Amino acid sequence: MSDTLSQTQRSYNMSRICGKNTKPEILVRKGLHARGFRFRLHNKKLPGSPDIVLPKYGVAIMVNGCFWHGHKGCRYATKPKTNIEFWETKIARNRHRDEVTTAHLEALGWTVITVWECELRGKLESNARLDKLADEIRFIGESKIQQDARRLCSKTELKKMKQEILRRQAQLEAEIDLLFPIPTRIKKASLEE
Ligand SMILES: [Zn+2]
Repeated sequence: MSDTLSQTQRSYNMSRICGKNTKPEILVRKGLHARGFRFRLHNKKLPGSPDIVLPKYGVAIMVNGCFWHGHKGCRYATKPKTNIEFWETKIARNRHRDEVTTAHLEALGWTVITVWECELRGKLESNARLDKLADEIRFIGESKIQQDARRLCSKTELKKMKQEILRRQAQLEAEIDLLFPIPTRIKKASLEE
């Protein structure tokens, strides 16, 4: 009985970590704000509704939890010892979604920066990462001004491409279900996630 309870509790905790407005995400937002950047959150009109979007700079930022997004070679991405099949499926789905979403965003002219949870551990590391992030954003923003000038002449073409990519993004979710089906045995248990 108590085992079931702790499992439910852990599943709840995990889903919190996986969701929006996570602690690392808030750290990045605060850090960017303090460095003078203004941004939009979870823009649903863009593939994968990126966590943080800076339209002026053409930058989309994903703040990824190391466990959930399977950060390669990261010591914080260790998998739990129970329900392995379930966690591996979930992580595989997230990784696939991250890859395809990034490709879609890039095709739309966005530059995607991923900030990993482990890069924000400790005040010194966190500040260093945020300084670097600010530099990256400014650098990308410079080249965006040149890109925009080129794009102005093909606005209708860009609109068409945008619609096509959003359509494909919708297909991706169905594709993920096919590629990495969640075993039905545990699908029920995680319905609330
Ligand atoms: Zn990591």
